[in-house]
Order: sequence, then C-alpha cells, then structure tokens
Amino acid sequence: MNSPAESGLPVDAAFLRRWLGAATEAVDREAAHLTELDSPIGDADHGGNMRRGFLAARTAVEQEPPDTPGGVLVLVGRTLISTVGGASGPLYGTLLRRAGKELGDERAVSAARLRDALRAGVDGVAQLGGALPGDKTMLDALLPALDALTGALDAGGSAAEALAAAAAAAGEGATATIPLRARKGRASYLGERSVGHQDPGATSAALLVTALADTARENAV
Ligand code: ADP
Ligand code: MG
Repeated sequence: MNSPAESGLPVDAAFLRRWLGAATEAVDREAAHLTELDSPIGDADHGGNMRRGFLAARTAVEQEPPDTPGGVLVLVGRTLISTVGGASGPLYGTLLRRAGKELGDERAVSAARLRDALRAGVDGVAQLGGALPGDKTMLDALLPALDALTGALDAGGSAAEALAAAAAAAGEGATATIPLRARKGRASYLGERSVGHQDPGATSAALLVTALADTARENAV
C-alpha cells in the first residue's frame, strides 16, 4: 500500500536536501517579516534565529550529505538545536530529529511514512513545549498541516497534492493565531495583549511546510 512508488513520490535524501534548500531560501527571504512578527509579542529575534539555524543546517548537510532521508532530518535538527538560541531551536530541532529517527535507515519512504514520522516529531514538540492546540504557537500551524496531510492521503491524493493541502492548512493555521491569546513562550507574558498579533513560530512553520509542498510539486512535474 505505502510503497514509495505508489505514493507517487520517493522521499529520499535528495528530496529532503532539496527541501532544505527551499526552506533555507524561504526563511532567509522572510527573516525580516518573522522578526517583525516577533517584535510586538516577543523579543524580535525569530527571523534571525531561524536564518542562522537554517544556513548552518544547509552548510552541515552540504559538507557531509547524509544518504538517507532520516539522516538529513536528524542532521538538520541537531544543527538547529546547537545554533538557534531561542525557544524555537530546541522545538524545531526536536521536531526534525524525532521525525528523522522515526525514518530509521530507509533510503526512500512513502509520503505516508513521512507523515507518520512528522507526527512523531510534532508529538515531540508538544511534549517538550507543553503547548496545546490554540495556545498560539508553532503547533497551531503544524497540527492542521498534519491533519490535512492525513486527510488528503487517506482520500487517495498524490503526495504532491497532500503536501499542498498541508501547506494551505499550515498557512491558515498561522493566520488563525491572530485572535488567540498566547499561553506558552514569551508571548504568554503579555496575556491579553498578545491578542491581535500573528504568532511568528506558526508563521515559520507554515514556511517549512510550504517548502515541502513546493519540493514535491517540482518533483511531480
Ligand atoms: P524565543 O521566544 O526564545 O525568542 P523564537 O523567537 O525563536 O524564540 O521563537 C518563538 C516561537 O516559538 C513562538 O512564536 C512560538 O511559535 C514558539 N514557541 C515558544 N514556546 C513554545 C512552546 N512551549 N511550544 C511550542 N512552540 C513554542
Ligand atoms: Mg523571539
């Protein structure tokens, strides 16, 4: 059922290296915007944190390219943990390391396997940060993305279609953080005053999922 060939997309090390390139470009391009979002409800460092982390991860992967998709995710996660100062470093690091470990040594996996691995990673974020849905964090983009990915794959959609649905859901999830009151992270110190601002971490999470969808779309053509 879930063989890479049937999913219409082999998720291999090369695929995730392309994702990393797209994600790094997106984070670099949007760094100023992410920092702007982190100004009213944080400490104005999210764009810089993400940019530093992803540039370092891209360099690490270029220097010693792992030959499995799990290896790429683990290396990116480890690099984020060691280079990103803020809360987002350990959280994104956990997301990707957990997902990578879940993929083990397989050289190519189906979109359904990638989804299961991402779910394990998102569970790791929830465990580490203790946030619940609606707490105005990166989870508010990641959880809807996972649900959309699952729904689209279960409905028989191709990997590219399912990842496009996930990206759309992540973007909507990020926008939907605007009216929420933050209950975790720095923004929670502001209480009611956090209402009316989009969460920077949910916004960067949507960029990362969108990079995955873009990579799959390019692969599918
Ligand atoms: P810091 O808050 O340490 O400055 P960043 O600015 O890099 O770190 O990242 C802030 C983002 O991290 C927030 O917008 C939010 O999405 C995410 N975040 C913070 N705390 C948590 C948590 N406990 N669980 C999930 N995400 C969190
Ligand atoms: Mg910050």
